[in-house]
Amino acid sequence: DSFDAMGLQENLLRGIYAYGFEKPSAIQQRGIVPFCKGLDVIQQAQSGTGKTATFCSGILQQLDYAVVQCQALVLAPTRELAQQIEKVMRALGDYLGVKVHACVGGTSVREDQRILQSGVHVVVGTPGRIYDIFQLLPAKIQVGVFSATMPPEALEITRKFMNKPVRILV
Ligand code: AMP
Repeated sequence: DSFDAMGLQENLLRGIYAYGFEKPSAIQQRGIVPFCKGLDVIQQAQSGTGKTATFCSGILQQLDYAVVQCQALVLAPTRELAQQIEKVMRALGDYLGVKVHACVGGTSVREDQRILQSGVHVVVGTPGRIYDIFQLLPAKIQVGVFSATMPPEALEITRKFMNKPVRILV
């Protein structure tokens, strides 16, 4: 039950500890390792339980930093949440040199284009700006769903996009 025992890269651990986390939360203990293995994950847990760091760590662990191309896309329901996730991703990935950018409404599309063209590893965004993304994705992708609520309609949709997801319901 420590971050050290999860097999994470040294520079990711440095980022986690520098951010001020000492021990993984309950859902981080259950979710980080399967997500790092590339498994699809559905994690339902109340807000404030540490979901953000679960998927940020899982993504940061798997990126190929030598390739400055978008390898992970995080969708969030609101601008504020997307920008919060961008901040956490950047902080935890500080020692890995992660390049992350948030694409959200209310900002310059041109500026988004300029930053994306300059090269990023991770894009965080709201569905409005990251429009119709699933059609553009490669066939073989890892999918994670992290939410406090999981209505039946949402679960139904996950069946279309996910492959034998690990379910972590707290
Ligand atoms: P989240 O549920 O991802 O929004 O996280 C809720 C709050 O808990 C945020 O302020 C995080 O910074 C904090 N947090 C998440 N994981 C940990 C941890 N392992 N140790 C201490 N604080 C944490």
